Amino acid sequence: MSQPAKVSDLPQRSLSAEPVPPASIDPVLARLFQSLLEKFERTHPGEDSTPLKSAFQLAYLMHAGQKRQSGEPYLIHPLEVAHILADMTTDRTCLVTGLLHDLVEDTGVTIEEVRKQFGDDVAACVDGVTKLAKLKFYSREERQAESVRKMLLAMVKDIRVVLVKLADRLHNMRTLGALPRDRQERIAQETLEIYAPIAHRLGMGKVRAELEDLGFEFTDPEAFQEIVEAIESKRKANQGLLDEIRGAVEVKLRREGIPARIEARLKRPYSIWQKLKRQKISIDQVYDLLAVRIITDSVKNCYAALGTLHGDWHPIPGRIKDFIAIPRPNLYQSLHTSVIGPGGQPFEVQIRTEEMHRIAEDGIAAHWKYKEGNKNAVQDEQQIAWLRQLVEWQREMHDPGEFMSTLKVDLYPEEVYTFTPKGKVIVLPREATPIDFAYAIHTEVGNQCVGAKVNGRIVPLKYALKNGDVVDILTQQGHLPSKDWLSIAKTSKARNKIKAVINTTERARAIEIGEKYLEKEARRFGVQWKKVTREQVISVANEYGFPKMEDLHAALGYGKFSARQVLIKLAPEQVEASERATAPAEPAVVAPPKDTGDKDLVIKVKGIDDVMVYRAKCCNPIRGEQIVGYITRGKGVAVHSVNCTNVQNLMYEVERKITVEWVRTAEDTFAVRLTAYADDRPGILSHLTSVVFHEGSNIKALEAQPDEQRGDGSAVISVLLDVKDKKQLERVVAAIRRISGIRDVERVN
Ligand code: MN
Repeated sequence: MSQPAKVSDLPQRSLSAEPVPPASIDPVLARLFQSLLEKFERTHPGEDSTPLKSAFQLAYLMHAGQKRQSGEPYLIHPLEVAHILADMTTDRTCLVTGLLHDLVEDTGVTIEEVRKQFGDDVAACVDGVTKLAKLKFYSREERQAESVRKMLLAMVKDIRVVLVKLADRLHNMRTLGALPRDRQERIAQETLEIYAPIAHRLGMGKVRAELEDLGFEFTDPEAFQEIVEAIESKRKANQGLLDEIRGAVEVKLRREGIPARIEARLKRPYSIWQKLKRQKISIDQVYDLLAVRIITDSVKNCYAALGTLHGDWHPIPGRIKDFIAIPRPNLYQSLHTSVIGPGGQPFEVQIRTEEMHRIAEDGIAAHWKYKEGNKNAVQDEQQIAWLRQLVEWQREMHDPGEFMSTLKVDLYPEEVYTFTPKGKVIVLPREATPIDFAYAIHTEVGNQCVGAKVNGRIVPLKYALKNGDVVDILTQQGHLPSKDWLSIAKTSKARNKIKAVINTTERARAIEIGEKYLEKEARRFGVQWKKVTREQVISVANEYGFPKMEDLHAALGYGKFSARQVLIKLAPEQVEASERATAPAEPAVVAPPKDTGDKDLVIKVKGIDDVMVYRAKCCNPIRGEQIVGYITRGKGVAVHSVNCTNVQNLMYEVERKITVEWVRTAEDTFAVRLTAYADDRPGILSHLTSVVFHEGSNIKALEAQPDEQRGDGSAVISVLLDVKDKKQLERVVAAIRRISGIRDVERVN
């Protein structure tokens, strides 16, 4: 391996400023950079470290003269951030980004200059970190919202941005003491509410723990001191016990031939504090302050170690957790148990493999370690399939944007983070449109929405919103949603609001139609409408169970009954006389489609007789199929197959849905049209007619035509046949399929 480069070999800065004579480099900074280079060359043997040197050079020049609050040279900070990243064994891009991360924000360097010198990856990462730094979290609620944390993760173009940001925050937290009290508190609060949970989500246990303890120290110094002192006093009292437990565990495992590394420790302040708050107890009541970690070589030995411990020490019921079989969402794996140890002292045990340990400590950052080609790391493959998948993607995809979009989809497949022009976050399901966005803001904004601008440009209302879109809804007073919106809106909130508006307007229309229809029919039947009082109509309405006359009109408008049914209650003699005179009577309501004819009798509306029912032409349901009825306006009840695309596309409102059933006794048959695709073979038609006949069905029409699309002599055969029910149809179709030379059969409507 080559010797680590000396700072004096640094390449010259390629930007316009004067080169820095090596002698002038602050020795503290030089040493820090030297050890960073050494770390890098140790963990990335054979990789070129020139970009790191250039980055240091550039940062050195540009941050020259800047000081941290503590009075130290500013460059200490980027160097320490890079060190934290190097300790996670992240890649070179991360380290270079760590060194440059404050450059754009705090000096005159532009992203373009960074891109020219360090390439697209570094530029994108520095840009991402700079943008994250600009995000403001106004309220406590916003900071605490899980959606903000998710948004942060979802918005960054490259997961390395988050790693650098976490390292940046970690170093700032470590040096928070130098800041004035009020800033300490705000930054610590933000750390607890945003950054520690992000580290947790990414499975980075070590960073999370340190962020939490530091955050705790600066948000509630008194409680922190109290707990630290209590832990210290317990540590003194418990040191002997810890040693004893460690020794005893070691002996037990050795006896069983289980190789293991054992760590005995006291829990950390923040987790104890959380426990005290959660359980409303004092620190003396925390019985499992002691914790032991057993790190062994295989999953099998994890369970073996658990068995050994439980064989000798009594486990506390309800405390055994198997996160190996069921990993946490952030991929954390371990066995947990609490046992009563020597002298009746309870303690907690975590058992895991080396690999699980690395993932528990470094989480997503552990993924770079696979790249180092550590052979032992490739164990327990299924357990870490997700991480491995990431590695694969990273290798396969040269476009980091593509990689990240895959990663994003995997992290939050179901959500998209959008903003109002004022910067408020609106979380919507993926594929959500500006209409969903509008209704998420306010019902009136939704109803009056006439257009939308996304990132300043007008988009169609069906535009699928993307992460980070800034959406401006254009409204117009008095505008109302249209029915098409139901197929555009993705959120149930928007859909419900749209339906409510449509129902209200449709009801008004149905009332109007019903009223006119009743008057018109009254004239036709010779009923003297002027003599019919409002009270009489209301009493008929009541008979149907409607409190008001409008309800009766609406029911007529929706086609629930015919006007004749109402009129015969109001003026039976006149209606009957009129019918005698004009017999045969014409149907009172628009007739159902002719081709269904008498067969309407085979379906009825559950619980109601005498409602006009017809089978919808679009799906032509047959007996045995699941059906659903929809009240149409003025045409009775349309019966569809539940699988009908018109039903599934919600052309019909739920409110109009009505339960319908097949009438058992009816003997009718149903006309069904089939299309069969056949090879050009002799006798295929006679074969087909015979199998249909054999299944007890009857062919009404049959037509064969050459298949124009194929043009190879094959044919399209169209058959119209009568079937009794779905079962018979299925048998017929299966029989036709079995005919040799038939490629496919489908039902057409
Ligand atoms: Mn920084």
